[in-house]
Amino acid sequence: MLEINTCGLYCAAGGFHIDPWKPAPRAVITHAHSDHACPGSEAYLCAAASRQLVAARVGEDARIETMEYGETRDLGGVRLSLHPAGHILGSCQARLERNGEVWVVSGDYKVQPDTTCPAFEPLRCHVFVTESTFGLPIYRWPPQAEVFGEIDAWWRANREAGRTSVLLVYPLGKAQRVLAGIDCSAGPVAARASVERFNALYRQAGIALPGTRPPAGVPPGALVLAPPWTIPPAWFRRLGPVSTGMVSGWMRIRGTRRRRSLDRGFVLSDHADWPGLLQAIEATGAERVRVTHGYRYPLVRWLRERGLDAQAFETRYTAEQDETGSEDVEEIS
Ligand SMILES: [Zn+2]
Ligand SMILES: [Zn+2]
Repeated sequence: MLEINTCGLYCAAGGFHIDPWKPAPRAVITHAHSDHACPGSEAYLCAAASRQLVAARVGEDARIETMEYGETRDLGGVRLSLHPAGHILGSCQARLERNGEVWVVSGDYKVQPDTTCPAFEPLRCHVFVTESTFGLPIYRWPPQAEVFGEIDAWWRANREAGRTSVLLVYPLGKAQRVLAGIDCSAGPVAARASVERFNALYRQAGIALPGTRPPAGVPPGALVLAPPWTIPPAWFRRLGPVSTGMVSGWMRIRGTRRRRSLDRGFVLSDHADWPGLLQAIEATGAERVRVTHGYRYPLVRWLRERGLDAQAFETRYTAEQDETGSEDVEEIS
């Protein structure tokens, strides 16, 4: 039902791509991260809750149609429906059914709860196309309450020492999950423009988030949310003494923090960890699994050893880039 062509994952019968990495005639979008929502397609279809976020990526004047979660639509004899993926606001899995065969494309997903988006919905299918950004057994996430508690404690200690806490977070999804999870009553919280842009879209969508202000002129001891890519040193200098931390699944690996000279790393991801991937795959009951993203081959091998028909799908999706992300060029604020 699905194949890979030059633009991406293609359903010939239905005449649509899912998350094409090049402009396509019709694009079904699983979520608004930039490696999944590429501009230039003639028409887009996404979950209703994702509309504003997708428009922010592909342009306000793009043709964007939406579907509610669970609603079905017939496209060339393919019954298409979208279901929560638990990754970020509006993220979905795409379920395709034709002549009794069911495929599910996961998009990016996590099975941990997240108060800023509906929970991942397990779907039975014959073929499951799963991501595997963190598809290695070393990736296991600690309970998120513990991680939020660590961030609160780090911020408190910095406050007492008169330092500003600069927390690097991916601006779409992670930033809002952290804001909703930590104790923001402890002091002023600021967000750089590229983060605040998505905070505003979450609030518009009715997701309750604590108030945030621009970083300029924050008092010492504040918490400042900033994107994980390069920030001008002059901006840091204006904040006075700072402690830096970063929230990412990659923080599971010590070297990542050291390489970036961060004071602290907090392990929290919007992707499934290794046990989460296995749990999600098993729940589908699928006998055929197609693996995209990241560490495809270890997961493919593990599944084959257990008798499943598993293959890697050569896609161009990247993890939300912690190291080199650059889609938001910012003013110094
Ligand atoms: Zn994503
Ligand atoms: Zn992705």
